[in-house]
Amino acid sequence: MEDWETYSKLSGSVVMLGFGSIGRGMLPLLERHLDFDISRMVVIDPDSTNRSLLDERGIRFIQERVTPDNFNSLLPPLFGFDGKQGFCVNLSVDVSSFDLLKLCRGIGVFYIDTVLEPWKGFYFNRESVMAARTNYYLRESLLSEKAKVPDGVTALTCCGANPGMVSWFVKQALVNLSSAVTGDLSEPGTRSEWALLMRNLAVKGIHIAERDTQRSVLRKPLDTFWNTWSVDGFVSEGLQPAELGWGTHEKWMPDFARRHDSGCQAAIYFEQPGVSTQVRTWCPTLGSQYGFLVTHNESISISDYFTVKEDGVVVYRPTCHYAYRPCDDALLSLHELLDRGGELPPFHHVLDEKEIIEGQDELGVLLYGHQKNAYWYGSRLTIEQARSLAPYQNATALQVTSAVLAGMVWVMENPCAGIVEAEETDYKRCLELQRPYLGDVGGYYSEWTPLEGRSLLFPDNSDPNDPWQFRNVLVQR
Ligand code: NAD
Repeated sequence: MEDWETYSKLSGSVVMLGFGSIGRGMLPLLERHLDFDISRMVVIDPDSTNRSLLDERGIRFIQERVTPDNFNSLLPPLFGFDGKQGFCVNLSVDVSSFDLLKLCRGIGVFYIDTVLEPWKGFYFNRESVMAARTNYYLRESLLSEKAKVPDGVTALTCCGANPGMVSWFVKQALVNLSSAVTGDLSEPGTRSEWALLMRNLAVKGIHIAERDTQRSVLRKPLDTFWNTWSVDGFVSEGLQPAELGWGTHEKWMPDFARRHDSGCQAAIYFEQPGVSTQVRTWCPTLGSQYGFLVTHNESISISDYFTVKEDGVVVYRPTCHYAYRPCDDALLSLHELLDRGGELPPFHHVLDEKEIIEGQDELGVLLYGHQKNAYWYGSRLTIEQARSLAPYQNATALQVTSAVLAGMVWVMENPCAGIVEAEETDYKRCLELQRPYLGDVGGYYSEWTPLEGRSLLFPDNSDPNDPWQFRNVLVQR
């Protein structure tokens, strides 16, 4: 048995919702780094495929679908009304983060999730206006609850890899860039100081730039959707309207872009899905690439967090969006999904660590438009590294589970912080906790701009005088 460092101690029950690719991968990290009574742990999932992992550890499994009708009666007793501090870890799909978080805070239980998930039906509700199917809408509900009840037991939302860890990377990248540009090693303390630092460094925007090259030896059959993480999660967000944090330097907007009527106004959305919206970006291993501008909470929360206002007026805000190049099997699956008008095929599958024979998940933040042009900072984790670091997960999952672990420890160290997003946690502490599971972590400067690599054979709606305009990033029809 290796001697793992205990990061934190929990007196009460861990109740985990969802035991899919991320839930499974959480198990060894909790066992290694959390001092808790495993006989009090409960896992809830309607699907029992992986329950043997729980049975062999004596962990209680409840085969149940958590719904709006049962969550209020099902969950509280599982924490055992004995005054011991419980933790609800939501790693499911189709269960409302908002309702769970409110319930947990009401009964004094810590809460964490990796995405602001709605109840089943939200993503594909044809009765909803488009703005009400956005992550902006989901986040605004959270912000209003936060404003209403600012204090109380800590609930950390959107704390996986992205959303989550990438917000810690943004701060680390800013500190690195600042020391390279100005030689100043001091670090901001408050939110407004962080935003001023980003503005003073003249960062125009941020891509959450990810390239997943993991692949299996098998070829994906027709009528299947393969991915390296939740198929349901990816398809739901991919078919939401594309969304991005909208920066103050932007001079042009596509004609299918829309602003919101209310709220923080940090983001806009497109009247088209993320899986039909391609952008140009850059990752260190393979360089220039196309990615999908799929909506993600961090695109909005990062733009919002780093906004500078003077007398209530926004004077600086970075553009921020996801630029995701999924694994080859997911790319092909997406293409077939669109062939089917967005209908999921009968079989979905998450490639596990045994099936994947090679590849890595390269996930970082590309800060652009500043004095040194572009700087990518992130994690490059190969499947071999992931296998050697922790069982039951591929490289993608390990970047997520280690962020959840770091987030849980931060929550336990900050028990009365109220409702919190990843930007509001201590990035240094969280990265320190997560670092052993991230493979190669580092920063890379690049001369690349989205004006590179264009075909000169067709008319091009680019702006050659201002390389970092979103107009140049978007792959236009
Ligand atoms: P998965 O599809 O492999 O597993 C989800 C599990 O939830 C499944 O086992 C499913 O049976 C279960 N489930 C479905 N409905 C449920 C219900 N009503 N009640 C309880 N359980 C239910 O997904 P995953 O890859 O493990 O991802 C889990 C969550 O984490 C998803 O919401 C996903 O979007 C999110 N995620 C976030 C990040 C990030 O970096 N922030 C990365 C990957 C996944």
